[in-house]
Amino acid sequence: MYLSRARVLFAARLIAALVGLASSGFAHCEWHYDKQAIMGTEVHLQFWHEDGEQAAAITAAVMGEFRRIDAALSPYKESSELSRVNRVAGQGPIVVSSELASIVDKSLWYSDKTRGAFDITYATVGSLYDFRAGERADQKTTDTLLPAVNYRHIQLDRKKHTMGFTDPRTKIDLGGIAKGYAVDRAVAILKQHGVQNASVSAGGDARLLGDKRGKPWLIGIRHPRQKSKNAAVIPLEDTAISTSGDYERFFIDDDNHRVHHIFNPATGMPAATDSSGDATDSNKLISVSVIGPNGFDTDPLSTSVFVLGKEKGMALIEELTGFEAVVIDANHRMFFTSGLQQ
Ligand code: ADP
Ligand code: MG
Repeated sequence: MYLSRARVLFAARLIAALVGLASSGFAHCEWHYDKQAIMGTEVHLQFWHEDGEQAAAITAAVMGEFRRIDAALSPYKESSELSRVNRVAGQGPIVVSSELASIVDKSLWYSDKTRGAFDITYATVGSLYDFRAGERADQKTTDTLLPAVNYRHIQLDRKKHTMGFTDPRTKIDLGGIAKGYAVDRAVAILKQHGVQNASVSAGGDARLLGDKRGKPWLIGIRHPRQKSKNAAVIPLEDTAISTSGDYERFFIDDDNHRVHHIFNPATGMPAATDSSGDATDSNKLISVSVIGPNGFDTDPLSTSVFVLGKEKGMALIEELTGFEAVVIDANHRMFFTSGLQQ
């Protein structure tokens, strides 16, 4: 069967019109995605922008900011400001950047608020752990170093931006707050460029800007024991959510204990393995998600609630206005703060 000439022309015009629509309609008004390995995790970025070229520049600016923060705060990079502080602040106060000072200041605020459950000096002992290699500090080393684990050893001069440690063995790590800080910075950059709808996450810390253009963002809380499953999916917009779990970085030791990356500063050991009977202690949590206006607060709060356990942790979130939590205990039961219960 042959098509008439007129029909062929019509079909060609239709295709041209569709192609035209594809380049003028879609490319100028679309979702942009990027994913990069930074800060020891995967950084995901999704945002709506009408101009493809500008969107590429915005993506570069956001990812560049994550890399800048990682270069300053990574404990694994010899050249980071954090590593320099850990090398010399034990000998006396040194001048630090206003950025590092403000993150340490915020960390100290949460140390006070949580009576030491959140404590960046956990690293004095925590830095001896290598979860990939299955290495931990032995009991004797932990006991010897424990007095140096205490946020009160941090002397921060908020005006002069100087910092020192009163115990020469003290070390700090900002892994419990830096990613939340970074997703906030990312959203600030997106806003500066006029972006109104975005989702940015770095591992367990996510910040949402606006909604998903007419519908909420759907954020999955991972099942703490089944990798590819969600334990819950929560619709959210214009907020931050941080999740702390014992399943992100861990190894199982010879006694069948889960040795993971969230430490109880009081014992110098991972928060859920320092007492016996993981599954019978109803206060013990294995996953904590905190929702609130920004990652600079939800990140340290999720770590704090994990260390505090269900009772004290949920009480802390109830006491703070604008924050909610979803937690999963060792028996895989899920609990919500009052604002989420409707
Ligand atoms: P992640 O997103 O890396 O899983 P979390 O918010 O769960 O982070 O915090 C865990 C990280 O916080 C650890 O990897 C460590 O760097 C740091 N950390 C562990 N225990 C504490 C603590 N008690 N106080 C402050 N920071 C901690
Ligand atoms: Mg956290």
